Amino acid sequence: MDLPDPAVDPARAEDIAPDLLVVPNRGVQLVPNIGVVGGSHSVLVIDTGLGRDNAEQVLAFAREQARGRRIYLTTTHFHPEHAFGAQVFAGEATYLVNRAQADDLATKGPGYLSMFRGLGESVARRLDGVQLATPDVVYADDRGHDLDLGGRVVHLRPTGRAHSRGDQVVTVPDAGVLFTGDLVETGQFAIFPWFPPHDTDVSGVRWIEVVDRLAARRPATVVPGHGDLGGADLLHVVRDYLTELRDETWRRRDSAMSEETVVAEVTDVLLRRHPDWAGREWIAPGVGCLCAEHSG
Ligand SMILES: [Zn+2]
Repeated sequence: MDLPDPAVDPARAEDIAPDLLVVPNRGVQLVPNIGVVGGSHSVLVIDTGLGRDNAEQVLAFAREQARGRRIYLTTTHFHPEHAFGAQVFAGEATYLVNRAQADDLATKGPGYLSMFRGLGESVARRLDGVQLATPDVVYADDRGHDLDLGGRVVHLRPTGRAHSRGDQVVTVPDAGVLFTGDLVETGQFAIFPWFPPHDTDVSGVRWIEVVDRLAARRPATVVPGHGDLGGADLLHVVRDYLTELRDETWRRRDSAMSEETVVAEVTDVLLRRHPDWAGREWIAPGVGCLCAEHSG
């Protein structure tokens, strides 16, 4: 398998609210949607892109937008295309994350670095010279963090384990914008990083609860980790998909079917229900994850 070059393109940045831009992923795998949110004295960058070159482009773009304002960086979770460019920001930006994510980065980052280097030449090239960054500020997950950018306070809120152990969402309350990271991906089957025995932190059950909670807040704009922006309906689509994945999996698992048969049957059902979605390779890990989970 060789993936297309996962290049971030800041020239495509779109204004979605005053002083709030998104560099869209344009449907390219391993390119995240990246946010740049400004206040009167500071600017926050959300996610870095994969590797140093991408992050340098993002930082240059942020610097241009900031025009002398202080720069902060946060990442929605530790996965490589979201956080493995943070080293570039050192000395120029304050890198701020929740404790669970900092722990993910330290404990699982090295394993993901070698796994992603095996995904093909274009990805390996992007990861050249990547060293895992150490966040400058780590806040406690149970409290969340309010970041004052000057006349605009942005809410950093860990969700608890869902797509990863250390997911956090970023809300810009005055604009009704919610950055979800990979808790939402548009137009594709939800990404389940279920890689036993190395990483079994993803939880389909908790993910449904988290998305339900986020939907109850009715954000006007949802910026997913990957794919097109939308409204609160994006959260409903993810919740409905995860619920059908759970129900179709559990019904078969609980009738003592082999896991292999469960995977085959559930894959078949979900492909028929979502014929246009990308990322079909993520159905099987999703079934595997839910086979291992129980309610509550
Ligand atoms: Zn992810």
